[in-house]
Amino acid sequence: MIDSTTQLIGLIGNPIKHSKSPEMHNAMFEKLNLNYRYLAFEVEEPQLKAAINGMKALGIRGFNVTIPYKVKVMDFLDEISEQAMEIGAVNTVVNQQGKLIGYNTDGEGYVRSLLEETGIDLNNKKILILGAGGAAKAIAYSIAKYPIKKLTIYSRNISKGNLLFEALKQKTTVELIDDNQLKSLVEQSDIIINTTPVGMSPNILDSLINPKWLNEQQVVSDIIYNPLETQLLKDAKSKQATIHTGLGMFIYQGLIAFEKWTEITPDADQMRKIVMESLK
Ligand code: NAP
Repeated sequence: MIDSTTQLIGLIGNPIKHSKSPEMHNAMFEKLNLNYRYLAFEVEEPQLKAAINGMKALGIRGFNVTIPYKVKVMDFLDEISEQAMEIGAVNTVVNQQGKLIGYNTDGEGYVRSLLEETGIDLNNKKILILGAGGAAKAIAYSIAKYPIKKLTIYSRNISKGNLLFEALKQKTTVELIDDNQLKSLVEQSDIIINTTPVGMSPNILDSLINPKWLNEQQVVSDIIYNPLETQLLKDAKSKQATIHTGLGMFIYQGLIAFEKWTEITPDADQMRKIVMESLK
């Protein structure tokens, strides 16, 4: 029931109509009997500052930020967590007694999902990330906190790859590779993570990796969740590798945001069921 004590959580982005976040969060608020509501707001760029100031003035509890505002929103917040600052993007904001504090839950959400869903331990692992965009950066920062053996970044765009390499080299053992080294690095890696849009609907037959390079010891992860099982994951499955789909990252980035707004940890399996249902 909505009453005068209901707390509002928002989502700002553009476009926003495809988002599964309102369904996921509202269903969890209901299941846990929490007096919160989650609403999506499609905001035009010239109105971004006014929209954020409005949320603050109205005392809303917090909001998520999605494409294309994850970077621009940082100009209008009171504080930004160290991790979001390093990543250079915010996807979750909490209103802490009138102060808007920005976080990035994408990378942490990804790693939590990878560990919980595959049971893998990152200790001493050789990890290959395909791509060097926004999601790659968030994931790489979170992975760099673990005592891994080596992080390899494959980027078709050398200058973008170099920026990520430079930012990570103080934090972990990292290398940057191009097309010529891809085959050998795929073969050597324990975990392969696709963060490029290659394989995303409608180009569902595309993959950057030749299936012959994969083996059953590996964990192969794709952050795309449309389709849920990409060509890369189908190929990995046919080689008996362990696979990890992109749905987990979406669920867990939301779960961590939910924890920040409500101080309650929702059930990840229930959240997954809700999203699976709405994807059908
Ligand atoms: P982004 O910032 O545009 O980065 C995409 C990266 O992929 C760039 O490094 C880009 O290289 C590279 N790339 C694109 N096409 C390529 C190709 N044909 N060959 C090699 N590299 C290629 O995008 P993003 O925000 O990181 O998102 C990437 C993907 O992750 C999207 O499919 C998105 O839907 C998905 N995603 C999923 C979740 C989740 O919750 N599961 C969260 C965030 C994102 P260039 O710079 O050279 O173009």
